Amino acid sequence: MTDCIFCKIINGEIPNAKVYEDDKVYAFLDISQVTPGHTLLVPKKHVCDIFEYDEHLASEVFSRLPKIAKALQQALPDMKGLNILNNNREIAYQTVFHSHIHLIPRYQEKEGFQLEFTNNQDNYQTEEFQALAQKINHNFE
Ligand code: 5GP
Ligand code: ZN
Repeated sequence: MTDCIFCKIINGEIPNAKVYEDDKVYAFLDISQVTPGHTLLVPKKHVCDIFEYDEHLASEVFSRLPKIAKALQQALPDMKGLNILNNNREIAYQTVFHSHIHLIPRYQEKEGFQLEFTNNQDNYQTEEFQALAQKINHNFE
C-alpha cells in the first residue's frame, strides 16, 4: 500500500533497524523503544488488522514469534520476560494500520509499560458465562 508507513519500511523507503526478514515477514525495532529491544513483527503483505488474516497468513506470521523471542533473549541476557501484544483497531490502541505484533522485553516490574486487567468475575452468573461462551462457539459450527 503506497501510503502505509510500515509498507515503506518493508520496502526500504524509510530508514529502520531491521531485526529479521524472510519472504513473508519483516521485523524491526519500534521507534518508541518502550523497553530496550522492543520489536515489531509485520507481515510483508499489507493487512490492516487480525480481522484481515486467514489461517495461512496467520501461520506465516505468528509462527515466526518463537525464533524472534529467542533471538531477543540471546541478544539481551538481562531480559527476564517478554510481552507479546497485538493491537487491533483504534479502540484497542492500534495507531498504525498495517498489522503488527509487539515484542516487548521485560527487565523489571515497573518500567515504561503497564498492563492491568480488571477482574469482573463477580459480575457473571454461571448461566450468563456459559451463554456468552456458546454465543461465540456457535460461529465455528
Ligand atoms: P500500535 O499502537 O499501532 O500498536 O503500535 C504502533 C507502533 O509503531 C508504535 O509503538 C510506534 O512507536 C511504532 N512506529 C510508528 N511509526 C514508526 C516508524 O516510523 N518507525 C518505527 N520503527 N516504528 C514506528
Ligand atoms: Zn502496509
